[in-house]
Amino acid sequence: MSTPSRIKQLDERTIGHIAAGEVVERPAQVVKELVENSIDAGAKRINIDIERGGFDLMKITDDGSGIHEDDLPLSLDRHATSKLRSEEDLASIGTLGFRGEALASIGMVSKLGISSRPPNSEGRKIVMDNGDKGGIEPAGVAEGTCIEVSHIFMNQPARLAFQRRPATETSKIVDVVVAHAISHPEVGFRLTSDEKVILEVPAVEQMEDRLYDILGRQAGKMIELTSPSSDEGAPGDEKWSGWISTPDITRGKGDDIHVLINGRPVAAQPFLQSIRRGYRTRLMQGRHPVAVLLLELPTDEVDVNVHPTKREVRLRNSWRVLERLERSIAHTLESTPTEPESSGGITGITSLAPQTEERRVVEKPAWAQTAQISLTGEKPVEVQQKEKSRPISTAESSQTTITGQEAIAPALSIGERELHRHAGHETEDIDNTEPLGPVINDLPSMEPLAQFADSYIVVQADEELLLIDQHALHERVRYERLRNDESLWQAQKRISSVPLDLDARQIARLEARIDDLTGMGFIIDKSAGGYSITSAPALLSASELEPFMHDILLDMSEDGAPLETIEQRKDHLAFLNACRGAVKANEKLNISQMRRLLDDMRRIPNPWACVHGRPTAMRIPLNALDHHFGRHG
Ligand code: ADP
Ligand code: MG
Repeated sequence: MSTPSRIKQLDERTIGHIAAGEVVERPAQVVKELVENSIDAGAKRINIDIERGGFDLMKITDDGSGIHEDDLPLSLDRHATSKLRSEEDLASIGTLGFRGEALASIGMVSKLGISSRPPNSEGRKIVMDNGDKGGIEPAGVAEGTCIEVSHIFMNQPARLAFQRRPATETSKIVDVVVAHAISHPEVGFRLTSDEKVILEVPAVEQMEDRLYDILGRQAGKMIELTSPSSDEGAPGDEKWSGWISTPDITRGKGDDIHVLINGRPVAAQPFLQSIRRGYRTRLMQGRHPVAVLLLELPTDEVDVNVHPTKREVRLRNSWRVLERLERSIAHTLESTPTEPESSGGITGITSLAPQTEERRVVEKPAWAQTAQISLTGEKPVEVQQKEKSRPISTAESSQTTITGQEAIAPALSIGERELHRHAGHETEDIDNTEPLGPVINDLPSMEPLAQFADSYIVVQADEELLLIDQHALHERVRYERLRNDESLWQAQKRISSVPLDLDARQIARLEARIDDLTGMGFIIDKSAGGYSITSAPALLSASELEPFMHDILLDMSEDGAPLETIEQRKDHLAFLNACRGAVKANEKLNISQMRRLLDDMRRIPNPWACVHGRPTAMRIPLNALDHHFGRHG
C-alpha cells in the first residue's frame, strides 16, 4: 500500500490559472466579458476592434464611468469587484458582472492593458502580462476605458492548440456583439475585424429600431408579443415581451432566438421547446422562428450565479415562466390578422389558426382514407416477397399496402401541402430522362395495362394486380435522380446575379467559409452594393437562392466539417424538387412512359414509399380476387 499524498494549499497564481481556464476558454468569451464590463460602466458607445479572430488583438473602448486610479491594480485581482458588496447582494444582481474574475483571468493568459480616465481625472494605464502585474503609468486617453488584450494563450500551448480558426472565432465574436447589441439598444456598438467594419449600430431609444438595424428587412415581419388577458391576473410577477417572426420566416437552427432575462442575454436552449409549442403546428419540422424575447422578473427569482460565464441562469418558477411564454406566443399568433399573401410564400396566419385541426381531417389524402377503410378490424397481411404459394387471406378485403406495414401515415404537413400546391406545372419529360443506375430491386415482371382516372397505373405483376400512384412513384424516382446527379450541383452562371440581404453575422460566416461555398457551387461577388450570387448550383431557382444561403450560413456557424450539413441540404433540395417536376394526378401517360416508370422502380432503393413516406402502390393478390368472387374452396 502506498502512503497517502499530503494535502497542500495551492498558491494564488495556480488558483488563478485554474480559474482562468473556466472564464476564458476562447477569444469570444473575452469579448463578452469586456463588453459586459463596458455596459455595466454605463457606456453609451462601445467600440470593439479585433485582429485575426481576436488571437492577435481584442480592443474594447468605451465611454463609461472609467476606473479610479487607485482601483486599477485591484481590478486585476481575483474576486475584486465594484458590483457586489456582501453576500446578500448576490440575491439581487442588477449588473452583468459580479464575480470579479474576468480581468484577473484574462490577465493570466494574455497581455492585458487597461487604460482608463474617469471624469475630471487624468488618464492612467496598467498592464498585466501573463500573470505579472506592472505599475501604474500616465496615459493620454479619452474619458472612459480602453482595454487591450493581445497574444491570448501564447503561454498556454495546450489551450491554443484547441482553438478554432480565426474566421470561425470572428463569427463567434459577431454573435456575442449582436446578442449584446440587441439587449442594449441605448448603447451604440461598432465592431471591426482586421480594420474592416463588420457591425455598426447607433444608440437608439426603441428596441424596434435596434432590431431593424440588426435584422434588416426581416425585422418588418416581426410581430410584437402580446399576452392573453387571462394571464394578467395570474400569479407571478414575471412578464414576457418582445417580438416573434411570422411563421413564414424560419431558420434551420435556433440561433436567431434571443432571450434576455432582466436585460441579460442568456442561452436560448431551455426556451426552445416552449417557443415551438407556442407556434403549434405553424412551424415545419426542424424549423425555428426568429425571436427576441424579454423576460422581466424580480431579481430574487433568478439565480445567475450558476455558471462561470453566466450564460446559464436558474429560474425559481421555471415551469410557470415557460408556460406563460408558450401562451403568449400562441395568443400573439392567433390574434394577428391575416395578411393577404403577395409573394407566393406560406399561407397567412389566420388560415392556419386552430380550426385547421378540423380541416386537416377532412383534407386527409384519399389514399389514407382508403387504407383505413380497407383495414377495418384487421391489420394488413404481411407480404412475403419470395413465397410463391398463394397466401390464404382471411381478411374481408385483402387490399394491403405493398410494404405490408400499417398504411396510416400522418396527413400531409402544412409545408408539404404548400409544396404540392405550388409545385410547378412543367412535368419532367419521362421518356427523355437519364437512366437511373443499375437494377437493385428484385421485383416481379411488371406490365402496365392501363391508366385509371389519369392518376393510377394499373399493372400486372405476376400473380398480383398493382395500382400505382403515378405521382408518388415519379416523385420517388426523381428524388433519387436529383440526389445522385452531381452535375446539378455544379456552378452555373446566373444570367443576372442575385443580391443577398445579409446581416453582420451572416457576412462574417460568409467570409469565413467562402472557400467551402465555392466548393458547393456558389460564387459570391462582393461589390460596393453588397454581396450577390453570380453562380449557383443549377438545381436552385433564383427565388430559392437567398433563403437557401441564409440556412447554409446558419449551419456554418457550427465548427467542423459542413459536409454532413450539405449532404442534408442536397437531400432536402432533391426532396423539394422531386415533387415539382413529377407527373401529377390527372395527367395522361402513354404506355411507354408507364413502362419507363416501372423500369425505374427497379433502380431505386425503397420503391414502395414516396418521399413523404406514403405508399406508392397498392397490391391486390390474385387469391384475394378469387376469394372475392367465390372461387376458393
Ligand atoms: P466584475 O465585472 O465581475 O466586477 P471584472 O474582473 O470583469 O469583474 O472587473 C473588475 C472591476 O473592474 C469591475 O468590478 C469594475 O469596477 C472595473 N471595470 C472593469 N472594466 C471596466 C470598464 N470598462 N469601465 C469601468 N470599470 C471597469
Ligand atoms: Mg466583468
